[in-house]
Amino acid sequence: MRTLFLKHLAPTSDMPLMNEIERAEGVYLYEKSGKRLMDLISGIAVSSLGHLNPEIKEAVHQQVDKYWHTMVYGEFVLSPQVKFAEMISKFMPQDLDSVYFTNSGSEATEGAMKLAKRATGRPDIIAAKYAYHGSTQGAASLMNPTDFTQAFHPLLPGIKHIEYNNESSLEIIDSNTAAVIVEPVQGESGVTLPVPGFLKKLKEECQRKGALLIFDEAQTGFGRTGKMFAWQHSGVEPDIILLAKALGGGFPLGAFISSQELMKKLSFDPVLGHITTFGGHPVSTAAGLAALEFIIKKDLLKEVENKGQLFEKNLKHHRILETRRIGLMMALEVGTFENVMKVVRYGLENGVLVDWFLFNNTSIRLAPPLVISEEEINDACDVLLKGLDQI
Ligand code: PMP
Repeated sequence: MRTLFLKHLAPTSDMPLMNEIERAEGVYLYEKSGKRLMDLISGIAVSSLGHLNPEIKEAVHQQVDKYWHTMVYGEFVLSPQVKFAEMISKFMPQDLDSVYFTNSGSEATEGAMKLAKRATGRPDIIAAKYAYHGSTQGAASLMNPTDFTQAFHPLLPGIKHIEYNNESSLEIIDSNTAAVIVEPVQGESGVTLPVPGFLKKLKEECQRKGALLIFDEAQTGFGRTGKMFAWQHSGVEPDIILLAKALGGGFPLGAFISSQELMKKLSFDPVLGHITTFGGHPVSTAAGLAALEFIIKKDLLKEVENKGQLFEKNLKHHRILETRRIGLMMALEVGTFENVMKVVRYGLENGVLVDWFLFNNTSIRLAPPLVISEEEINDACDVLLKGLDQI
């Protein structure tokens, strides 16, 4: 299988992990070799309710028994989409009650960029440095630094960058700016929390210049930060919110969400402003709905911050130079990529999976399933501390 993997599956790097997974349940991945790995990254920030959650599984089975794909997005009335969109809207800022389901986070970014341009008639989009919003050409245009995108230039024109947490950099927002897109907590920069007041100031600047504000909650959504969505920490209400990753309860799904008034602009001048065949797939939306119901029913959010604190309390080690954390979204700064790799390798050999970040390879990423137990946290931390001893 591993030989065929290398022969027939397109590679994304020259160093894939190559663990051969036979099944996965709860916080554990089970390998063909018989080894068990505790999943502390949730692949990544997707399997927030652990693997093979019985209620998601049941919802998927029920949906599969009724129908799968029936028609491109937006034509038929499909109850998993409708019920899920209604329930998501309850956790959104007041006006944001129109959900456009997509296949992925990248497609949600694309849709939101198009909506902002169409709604404002302006050409430019502003993103933050060290942000990640996806790998398709529009979303990739937002990336800065450009190490990952240089080879694919030219990408989109009219893209500018602010520095996250730097209020003076907001000066570049002007009358050409269609939207500013940021993560309410930056993920791939290595977990960067907004300093108090930054997002509020950003919203004010957007309003003053007539630009829309987009929050990308692909990583922060569905309880990862201890609240259902990260916009709730600051109370700052953006014009558009992007969701992905945990949205589908482990099935492929993304969404961009806005007010009905704004969203309807994608339906005329031109008609079909954004179209997608599989967006909002009935099985994915049924799974996502079951996942959201599970979070609510189990009152999972109230445990998230405490669990994060337990990780932080346990993970005291002289090799950790800094810990950045909100809820169960966490980065351990260890100084060099070599140090990160020593811990990653030790973890893999001793049953714990961690990795690093796209724009920060000197920090270890922790994004465990929210359902992880205290005992499992203690076990995971014991392994990580021994891994840190290897540095
Ligand atoms: N936005 C953010 C904040 C992300 O972390 C990601 C994925 N890492 C995306 C967008 C893109 O999502 P996808 O991989 O589903 O296209």
